[in-house]
Amino acid sequence: MKVWGILKGEEAAKTLEVVETAKRLSKGENFGIVLLGKPEDSVLEKILFTAGSEGKVICYPNKLWPPGYVIAAITRILEQTPQLIFVPHNYSFMDSIPRLAAKLNCAILTNVHNISEDNNFLLCERPVLEGKMTGLFKIDKRHRVIVSLSAGIYEPKEESSKAELKMEDISFLQNIDPLRKITSIEKAAEEQVDLSQAEIIIGVGRGIGKQENLALVEELAKILKAEIGASRPVVDNGWLPRDRQIGSSGQTVSPKLYIALGISGAIQHVVGMKGSKTIVSINKDRNAPIFNISRYGIVGNLEEILPAILNYLKETS
Ligand SMILES: Cc1cc2nc3c(=O)[nH]c(=O)nc-3n(C[C@H](O)[C@H](O)[C@H](O)COP(=O)(O)OP(=O)(O)OC[C@H]3O[C@@H](n4cnc5c(N)ncnc54)[C@H](O)[C@@H]3O)c2cc1C
Repeated sequence: MKVWGILKGEEAAKTLEVVETAKRLSKGENFGIVLLGKPEDSVLEKILFTAGSEGKVICYPNKLWPPGYVIAAITRILEQTPQLIFVPHNYSFMDSIPRLAAKLNCAILTNVHNISEDNNFLLCERPVLEGKMTGLFKIDKRHRVIVSLSAGIYEPKEESSKAELKMEDISFLQNIDPLRKITSIEKAAEEQVDLSQAEIIIGVGRGIGKQENLALVEELAKILKAEIGASRPVVDNGWLPRDRQIGSSGQTVSPKLYIALGISGAIQHVVGMKGSKTIVSINKDRNAPIFNISRYGIVGNLEEILPAILNYLKETS
């Protein structure tokens, strides 16, 4: 198979774009999905339907995946042909994917947030120079390459028929050097917010003016059952905690609705939220770049518009 998507079972629900990307790039030919760990049944069904009948899903039902196991599980199923191998761009793969690339003697391109095609080449966009610019990388599909995908690059779309599932025997792992010993697993502190699962996010930018105005945003978030995210200046000013930052040095999100309040649309912010399904922006500058990626835009002063929206929602709900 020429195209593979690899994801971890326990985080599969958050990384379904890997399945969608493998499906799209295989162009109707067979492709493979490797599941490192078995996800819960409902997520597994989602994966099988997202892959569709052209896909073959191979599941290794092991719980822990140190780098040695990841490399052993993947190398034993890859044939000696050129392949595009997609993985999620997240911490859980960062310690194994460079080692896998070294073992396979192939190139690796990380944090890709846009892919298009040009004959034998893939054109991949990723942030460069710490997110100050976007680089365009041309990948020759006739060579094997590993590409890590930024969250939300494609929205997963379920097909009418599902992929074949093969559960693999994991006894071979007993003889594999894990290359890292996991001594314990600790849950992240409760206050760490995971915005990647939020359906609605209100992104607050410098245009909110002052910290006191956040009370209106919190009120709106409560009515809409939304999470609050922020651009970097809002975090740097200490108005919201760092774990709310969205962008190249913050979280990557892809909610159904992203409401950008007083955000200009700098590339470092946009790479973190452009996968949102619908973007609504409010900004007093009609030329603000955020409007280029917005489905709906309101040009005006937040200090007038925000209270008006709140009044309307209160009256109608
Ligand atoms: C290495 C590096 C990494 C970075 N990482 C990130 C990152 O992860 N996330 C991030 O967000 N940024 C990041 N940045 C910063 C980024 O370059 C921008 O400076 C930042 O995104 C701008 O935030 P903003 O849109 O809130 O502020 P501004 O660019 O200052 O925009 C404020 C907007 O609010 C509007 N406005 C002002 N007052 C009102 C009002 N009363 N009503 C309506 N609209 C109003 C203005 O017209 C303007 O468009 C990074 C920068 C660097 C160099």
